Amino acid sequence: MKKNDIITLEITAIASQGSGIGRCDTMAIFVPASAVGDVLEVRIVKVDKNCAYGRIEKIITPSPDRIASDCPAFPQCGGCDFRHISYEAECKAKCLRVADAMKRIGGVDIAPEEYICAPSPDRYRNKAQLPYAMTKNGAVFGFYAERSHRVVPCSDCLLQPEHFSRIAAAAAKFFEESGNEPYDELTGKGRVRHLFMRTSQSTGETVVCVVVNGNGLKNEPEFVEAVRSAYDKVSGVVINVNRENTNVILGSKSRTAWGSDTITDRLCGMDFAISVKSFFQVNRVQAEQLYLKAAQYAELTGSETLLDLYCGTGTIGLSMANNVRQLIGVEIIPEAIENADKNAQRNGISNARFICADAAKAAEQLRKEGIKPDVIILDPPRKGCAEELIGTVSHMSPDRIVYISCDPATLARDIKRFSEYGYEVKRLAAADLFPRTRHVESVCLLTREGK
Ligand code: SAH
Repeated sequence: MKKNDIITLEITAIASQGSGIGRCDTMAIFVPASAVGDVLEVRIVKVDKNCAYGRIEKIITPSPDRIASDCPAFPQCGGCDFRHISYEAECKAKCLRVADAMKRIGGVDIAPEEYICAPSPDRYRNKAQLPYAMTKNGAVFGFYAERSHRVVPCSDCLLQPEHFSRIAAAAAKFFEESGNEPYDELTGKGRVRHLFMRTSQSTGETVVCVVVNGNGLKNEPEFVEAVRSAYDKVSGVVINVNRENTNVILGSKSRTAWGSDTITDRLCGMDFAISVKSFFQVNRVQAEQLYLKAAQYAELTGSETLLDLYCGTGTIGLSMANNVRQLIGVEIIPEAIENADKNAQRNGISNARFICADAAKAAEQLRKEGIKPDVIILDPPRKGCAEELIGTVSHMSPDRIVYISCDPATLARDIKRFSEYGYEVKRLAAADLFPRTRHVESVCLLTREGK
């Protein structure tokens, strides 16, 4: 097989990165935006040792899962993976993916006992980070195409609230008229890098943050007016300075140009303050479902010491704090810990303390101090838990470990590592926090054999 070959291919599964997969002899062929049951004419675009990548030339027989895409930027923009199949088919594929990772990587035969689908697959996000770039049709907001920094224009992303599009349009018009040029990654010139927005789905308040290569914008007060007149619930305008030539979106320094840099949202009956830099789940409704499942697995009775590792602004632990004796949260980002402390206060929780540190180091320190958590929550970023943390957590001998994960592959890897310390998966569920994309959240309960 070589580049530019045209083959006929039947798609038999959906791969973890969202492409369909078909087989040609022993080769697995990945085809983006294809569906299980499609028979396709495929052009081979790249050949590796054991697999190849193709592009649809023609749909010979469409899959019964197929629907017409309702977004002009799909699939070029790289945001959605599944606008071409029904939401039902997407949920089924992602649920299978979790079970498959457990088996292949984790070595355990377990499927999610429940897959919590979203009430609506559209307009669920509360955060956007839009790159601003020059294209042949002028400066635009959009999204980076998959594995590239080419900006695909998108004037109204269907995963985001409609008011983000209005704010972005007003910002683009202002930048154009005021001579705030887009940043160019190649030359390092130009001012505006990204527009970052976060909205509270319970109050509507929205913070607009512009990431600039410089100290600020030209005519900042007019920018504030422009975005406030596009949406009346803009509650803060923040300037973030990023002069580095890097892929990291936000720079280290921020300044509030108007209003407040923090919004408040409600989750599991509590109010949470969230600043620009803090992690907050992008799909609040579904995060609530996930945390309810985690609480069910944690089986708290009011007498426990609960350790919440990778706690962010404290959302998971705090939502359980009324059912434990003491809560300890650990998180590496200082702003998130500040938020967590304030969130405890604001919700009248006095049995919580938060530590700003690396989760593995803090866990080791707590163990040395003789802290014996009854239940440990783990909610690491995509790369999963640090290997030494798995040992430390196991040596603390909690009755239950509740592991929340945004990547089934690293979850499965870590489950295998936990099994070496005697912890086995007792229950597993998955929730769709990111409809129309390949991403899926899982939550599992680990307990020790014989317990
Ligand atoms: N539990 C929180 C946040 C989960 S996201 C919630 O549900 O909202 C993962 C969090 O882990 C992020 O807040 C990130 O800043 C934090 N993090 C990443 N690496 C870490 C480390 N080595 N030690 C502690 N926290 C870390």
